[in-house]
Amino acid sequence: MARRSKSGDPEEYRKQLIALLVAFETHLKDDDLRQKVRHLVPSYHILRDLGCSLIDIALNNSSARQRLLSYLQSYPCQIIDGDELMAVSGIQDWPRRLREIRKDLGFKLLSGVTVKEMEDQGELDPQSPFIGMKPEQYVLMEIEPDREAAYRYNLAKEIRQSNQSVQNKILAYLRQNVGRKVSGEELRYVSRDKTEWARRTRELRTEQGWPVVTRYSGAPKLEVGTYLLEMDRQSPVHDRRIPDPVRRAVLRRDKYECQDCHWHIEEWNKADPRILELHHIQHHVDGGRNTANNLLTLCNVCHDSRHRDSKP
Ligand SMILES: [Zn+2]
Ligand SMILES: [Zn+2]
Repeated sequence: MARRSKSGDPEEYRKQLIALLVAFETHLKDDDLRQKVRHLVPSYHILRDLGCSLIDIALNNSSARQRLLSYLQSYPCQIIDGDELMAVSGIQDWPRRLREIRKDLGFKLLSGVTVKEMEDQGELDPQSPFIGMKPEQYVLMEIEPDREAAYRYNLAKEIRQSNQSVQNKILAYLRQNVGRKVSGEELRYVSRDKTEWARRTRELRTEQGWPVVTRYSGAPKLEVGTYLLEMDRQSPVHDRRIPDPVRRAVLRRDKYECQDCHWHIEEWNKADPRILELHHIQHHVDGGRNTANNLLTLCNVCHDSRHRDSKP
């Protein structure tokens, strides 16, 4: 039922609503259920108009999408309930408008669903304020849109439709975006909204040695909900399968710095991309373990040369 919300003064709507509810007293005594319901309907409409009218007066007669965006932009980085968005949008299909805000306009809008899936894979700091977000809650991470996002979503769409495993889709997408931040929402989209996306993404790092980092797993400067493939390179086979908690502990101990040349993760740039890798002091093949005291943080350049030098 598409019913356009009118522009108007919130106070007017409030009065109309009260008048309707007062009049409803008589209808409530009616024996006929259908009559009761039919007399209640106008209150719903006015209540909806009241919600829409709360958004800045200049935006009156605005679209539901504009109202949603305006509301979200007023409270960046705060957890917003779906019910609030329903109230200001005045439409039932507000989740679809949110998807447009994300995909077509490129706003970084984190959903509780994605947060939960990242949380389950240990990709969120247990201290993060976003821990425990509910599925119908949202956070606008940045006021300005990411101008490249719409372009990326087109690419994501192609990969989404391709015939390969969820993990390969995610990897293909990340490899097309080396050195670019992508959101969990994008990866979820690429994987056709399969819940396993977060696990598959984590496994790319923990089992296959791809340098896919998050704020909590290797790149403290990244925003929550963001992933980055730092370099199009898999770490040497013997260095894979290091559990995330161990990886985090070693990186923190070594202050995110190569222990040979002292290259720091903050020096990362697109033109001269490097990554931090974990090197086994006693090599894995010789029985070296995946424990913190057998691991050392090296940049990939120094890591390569260590292995070259150790070869006969
Ligand atoms: Zn180095
Ligand atoms: Zn190594």
